[in-house]
Amino acid sequence: MKKVLITGAAGFLGSHLCDRFIKEGYYVIAMDNFITGDKKNLIHLKENPNFNFIEHDVTEFIKIDGNLDYILHFASPASPIDYLKIPIQTLKVGSLGTHNLLGLAKAKNARILIASTSEVYGDPLVHPQTEDYYGNVSTIGPRGVYDEAKRFQESITMAYHRFHGLETRIVRIFNTYGPRMRLNDGRVIPAFMGQALRGEDLTVFGDGSQTRSFCYVDDQVEGIFKLLLSDYSNPVNIGNPHEITIKEFAEEIIKLTGTNQKVIYKDLPVDDPMQRQPDISLAKKILNWEPKVGRAEGMKITFEYFKSLSQEELYRSEH
Ligand code: NAD
Ligand code: UDP
Repeated sequence: MKKVLITGAAGFLGSHLCDRFIKEGYYVIAMDNFITGDKKNLIHLKENPNFNFIEHDVTEFIKIDGNLDYILHFASPASPIDYLKIPIQTLKVGSLGTHNLLGLAKAKNARILIASTSEVYGDPLVHPQTEDYYGNVSTIGPRGVYDEAKRFQESITMAYHRFHGLETRIVRIFNTYGPRMRLNDGRVIPAFMGQALRGEDLTVFGDGSQTRSFCYVDDQVEGIFKLLLSDYSNPVNIGNPHEITIKEFAEEIIKLTGTNQKVIYKDLPVDDPMQRQPDISLAKKILNWEPKVGRAEGMKITFEYFKSLSQEELYRSEH
């Protein structure tokens, strides 16, 4: 039985990855310090004999007994309000945490995949974004703590690959959504759906002309799984190329949820990218992967999830 370590396992993507690897017949070691994650996301795996959870901060030395075949490093705050609230931890998990996991991978002779992000492209001047675009990031802006941590993460990963011959994979994840997103994480999908469920107006930041492209979680997990098992060590974009403006998206959510609230406009956060759309030609070519779940279907499933939450969860403003 192959053994995989997944960091950030109590988070949104990490918990879906745990499910997928268990389903594929792997032994899963899940690691998290719960800084933005939730025990609830893994509760259904608790009694599974092929699952083991370790509460640990990956910026501290990591000790794992026995062998490891694969590591997936997903620990990191991921939403703008999280990483603006905990900027130093964000820089540390991307740098020190990644260094620890690369060291562990080397010691265990394991293949490691790290979760990078479309944010390495910053506010892109190339559209759609291809993997060979170097990006447009402000090192000192508020979002820099996340973007630069991820850029460093990619650099140190490539250095371990080149210098130590480590088997590495880098996924550049574009906005992904689905069940188990945190209702109060500030990202646009839980924000709009939470507002609709509480009967509040939907807050569009700026004039809403900025674009995003939303990928359903099952498609993202499939892309990550295929990339891990591929032999490709340069970064690969995984996302859904269907782009929409945030203003149009708010209108879609109003229709989907049946809310009678309206859209209100708030200030655009500093360094908020104007456009974002993945070019997925590379993933199509080397992984034979493309997303299968359309926005209408994925948003419906996600809304059902948010509807199933308790009133207490719906109104809890602090994590
Ligand atoms: P999330 O906040 O739901 O999950 C992150 C998890 O990492 C949490 O459970 C948190 O407690 C854990 N964590 C953070 N710091 C830690 C530390 N020092 N030690 C141990 N655990 C720690 O976020 P997510 O959306 O699931 O994102 C997961 C990964 O994917 C992140 O690395 C993120 O940068 C990347 N990513 C996500 C998206 C997206 O759209 N969801 C887009 C681009 C990149
Ligand atoms: N946004 C918005 N209203 C909200 C939350 C977010 O208009 O209540 C906008 C945000 O400014 C950005 C887009 O939606 O332009 C996506 O934001 P998110 O935080 O989901 O992810 P990002 O892609 O910026 O990391």
